Formats: sequence, C-alpha cells, structure tokens
Amino acid sequence: MNINLIALSIPIFFILILIELSYSFYKKLGYYRLNDSISNLSQGTGQQLLDIFMKASLFFGYTYIYTNWRFFTIETTWIVAILLFIGVDFFYYWFHRMSHQVNALWAAHIVHHQSEEYNLTVALRQSWIQGWFSWVFYLPLAFLGFNPILFLTISSLVTLYQFWIHTKAIKHLGFLEYILNTPSHHRVHHGSNPKYIDKNHAGTLIIWDKMFGTFQKEEEEVVYGITKPLASWNPIWANLHYWNELLASAKKVSSFKDKVKLFIMPPGWQPAELGGRQYAPEISIETYVKYNPDYSNKTAIYIIVQFLTGLIGGSLLIFYNANLLPYQLVMGAIYVVITLVSCGAFLDGKIWVKYFEAIRIIGLLIFFTIFNLVAYLIYGIIGVVLLLIWYIYILKNKN
Ligand SMILES: [Zn+2]
Ligand SMILES: [Zn+2]
Repeated sequence: MNINLIALSIPIFFILILIELSYSFYKKLGYYRLNDSISNLSQGTGQQLLDIFMKASLFFGYTYIYTNWRFFTIETTWIVAILLFIGVDFFYYWFHRMSHQVNALWAAHIVHHQSEEYNLTVALRQSWIQGWFSWVFYLPLAFLGFNPILFLTISSLVTLYQFWIHTKAIKHLGFLEYILNTPSHHRVHHGSNPKYIDKNHAGTLIIWDKMFGTFQKEEEEVVYGITKPLASWNPIWANLHYWNELLASAKKVSSFKDKVKLFIMPPGWQPAELGGRQYAPEISIETYVKYNPDYSNKTAIYIIVQFLTGLIGGSLLIFYNANLLPYQLVMGAIYVVITLVSCGAFLDGKIWVKYFEAIRIIGLLIFFTIFNLVAYLIYGIIGVVLLLIWYIYILKNKN
C-alpha cells in the first residue's frame, strides 16, 4: 500500500494559499512576501521529495513491530479509529514538545519556525531531516497493536489538520478554542516573543498543552520566527545551520560531558565556559526588522518562472515516482533541489548565482536527455528556452 494523503492534498493546499493570498492582496494586509513564500514552498517541496525515498522504510519500522511484537490484536472499528486518533495526537504533542526541548531534535524542527511571516505557506515549511526519526515516538501504538494502515491514515490526518491553522486571516473561533488547536493558538507557537516560546505544541487537540502546562493564550501581537534569525533563503542551509551552530559550540567546549550535553539540553543551554544559559531577548512587532534583501522586478519575474519550473518538476516526481527508475528519481530530485537553491541565491543577492545558474542550465539539458520522456522533454524545452533568453538578458542588463 502506498497511500500518501499529504501528496494528494497538494492541489487543495495551493487553492487555499491562492485564496489567502488574494484576500491579503485585496485587503492590503501584507501576509505574503515573495522571498519568504518561495523559501517556505522550497522547504515543502524538498521535504516531499525526500519523503519518496524514506517513507516506505520508515513505515516498515512500525509494521515490523506490529507484526512481530504487538501485545494485542486490535480490530479496526470506528471506536478504535477515534482512540487511535487520540493516541496519535498525544504522541505528536510529546514528539513536538521534545523537538523544542532537545537541541539535536530542535536542529531539525527549527526549519518549521524560521519564517518571519505567518501564512499557509509556512505550514508547508517542513524539515528535510525530521521525518527520519519522528516515527520512533509513535512506536508504543505499534506495540499496543493498532493496525499500521489505520495508523498511517490517522497520522496523515493529524498532519493535514495543521495546514489551515497557519493563518492570520482567522482571528478567534469561540468555544472551539477550548478544545482544538486553532490559528490563534498556533500563532503563539510560532512566536519568538519570550512569553510565547515553547508554548502550544498541540497537533489537533489543544487539551494536551492545557493538561501538561505548556498552554499560552494569544495576547500581544506575535513576532514570528526564531530568536537568532536564519537570514538566508538557501533551503539546504536552513536545514543545516543549527547543526553548524551546535558543532561550532561543541568544538569550543573542553569537557566531553559538556560536548554531549550541548546536543541533549534545551536550546539556549550553554556550559559556563561559553557564558552559560542564553535567554531570548525581548522583542516587539514595532521594532523587529525582518530579513528582506533587495531584488529588482526583473529578478522577481525570473525567479517566479524558475521557481514554477522547480515546483512543477518536483510535483511530477512526487506524483509519478512509482513510474520512474531510481536513478531518474534521484537525478530529478537533485535537479529540483538545485533549482530551489538557485532561486534562494537570487533572492539573497549572491554574486555566485550567475555562474551557478549556467551550470544548472547545462545540467538541465543533460537531465532531459537522460530522461527521454516526451512530457518531460516538452517541459524541458520550454524551460530551457525561457532560461536562455532571460540569462542572456541579465548578462546584458547587470543591475
Ligand atoms: Zn514547533
Ligand atoms: Zn506551525
């Protein structure tokens, strides 16, 4: 069985994003910035591509335990489905809470929190690494004997639920705020105001935060993002920067015990020799400056075209991966990721991107020659023509 409810929902995600984008545009609310949205969608595309490679093996872990070591055999009924939903949501809460409390887990989860905006594209901003270990947290359900297919379906639903709560367009939902995780509760979770940090870890039901003491109501306006801003649109760096920070700190520390502790203690922890525990600085929406390097309108158009080719290419790989040979899949995924990196570098204003882009275009030609598939070829030719025209154009009009 290879059901991927998340991938199937991609068209719905895009329809809802377009609705929110139009609403923000007509009401002049400024919910979206091109650079931030491209960065969020790049994370989502990369994560879904990696998912193709790891999904089967991870699901295997749950299935293996269920098949060999389960304590009970639980028949699938509606009541069982509801119980399992509560179970998945409970373990999600703890997985998510630990992701904020343990540096090595935070190094992966941080990606979801890097955006300084809050809109539906932030929901798709997901770590490329987190999926490799998150499944371990749900294994008690396999030991208990909940059916793997039912587990996969319900855990996908808990993930899908969290899409719509990434919006500023919905303010408060009355009595639902008592039970459900809502846009208001989740806005708090994305805040870097000290009082909002490490609050509201719920997936679907906010009751867990209320039960375990991590609930915080939305009060003053939220400043979105992380305490030390990423300040880059590079999707690969977004997944690695915190590791880099941890390793750099570990290098400076003399005792082995402290080196290990750096990875398992909460973010902000430091041994005395590095200056001790660091606390998040007070911030306010009035004074906060978002990362927003300048780019010209021409660059914007070029990047939109580029990014769409990456997004379409990525979607084709996600939907048709079963029809492709492994090497085609790997090459396709590499090509898409390189396209996303290139878009980010243009938006960051990196000097090297012009050379990087030339290499990418040559790579694209090789890629389509190898694939030799009609649909890809047409897409490729259109892409290459557009790329070359514009590339010659930017070389002539250096800004
Ligand atoms: Zn989080
Ligand atoms: Zn979120």
